[in-house]
Amino acid sequence: MMSTLPHVPIVEQLQQENEKLQQENQDLHIALTTIAEHGDMIEALLNETNVKLKSEILERQRAEVKLQNLLNLISQEKKDLEIIVETIMQHGDVVDAQWRQKLGETAQLLNLDALTQVSNRRHFDQHLNQQWHQALINQTAIGLIFCDIDYFKQFNDFYGHLSGDDCLRRVAKTLSATLRNPFDLFARYGGEEFAVILSDVDHQTAHRIAQRMQAALALLEIPHHQSAVSEYVTMSFGIALIIPDPNQSPRDLIAQADQNLYQAKHKGKNCIVG
Ligand code: GH3
Ligand code: MG
Ligand code: MG
Repeated sequence: MMSTLPHVPIVEQLQQENEKLQQENQDLHIALTTIAEHGDMIEALLNETNVKLKSEILERQRAEVKLQNLLNLISQEKKDLEIIVETIMQHGDVVDAQWRQKLGETAQLLNLDALTQVSNRRHFDQHLNQQWHQALINQTAIGLIFCDIDYFKQFNDFYGHLSGDDCLRRVAKTLSATLRNPFDLFARYGGEEFAVILSDVDHQTAHRIAQRMQAALALLEIPHHQSAVSEYVTMSFGIALIIPDPNQSPRDLIAQADQNLYQAKHKGKNCIVG
């Protein structure tokens, strides 16, 4: 008897096997595709992370160099400061003396008239107030001589302003050199007018000082063709003397000397009044 093998089921089985295999093949394909796609993404991600990492390392290296430079600078400045402090500590006296000298020189400059290099109006006011105060306390006489170049406007007009300046310099130098008492002060009061403050002085001495200045100027023989009183430059002098009392002020002394100078001009110039 011929065996009857179930033919159809084998075919079905094979078909089923085939379908299963196809399905598995499909799944495998999907899995492979997914892996391939994700692989690209992962690689791109890795690349990106790598670039970021490199740039961060570079940045960090730069920051470290900057920090090192800063540290070097701070350390150098610290060394410099230490040297300065040490120098100041070692030579403190010398530095102090130099500052004092500079201060003294500046103070002196503040008191000088730039053109003639004698005391200026500022110093005159200061000195007069001091001496007035002393004279008030000691009840001694304080003297003031005002002297003014005669026909100086004509001098400037005729010889020129620079010659006028030169004349003022020579007059200031000569007149100031006639004073001998270190407490007396010769100053340029303004323009072509000078002033002398005399401490603890009597009238005769004040008058003699004015005469000495007048004579010293005459010896200079500065030509003045436009003067009506002399062929040389001359000056008029006004003298005032006060033993101060508390109701008076230096202005009283100035007013008196000014009035006497005015009188000297009025009398014909090149003379002394007071
Ligand atoms: P008096 O005889 O009455 O004193 O007359 P004066 O001409 O001397 O006086 P005035 O006040 O008429 O003129 C003073 C002149 O002094 C005019 C001015 O230009 C001149 N002067 C003032 N300061 C300076 C200066 O620094 N340099 C020169 N070169 N001239 C000056
Ligand atoms: Mg004058
Ligand atoms: Mg004048």
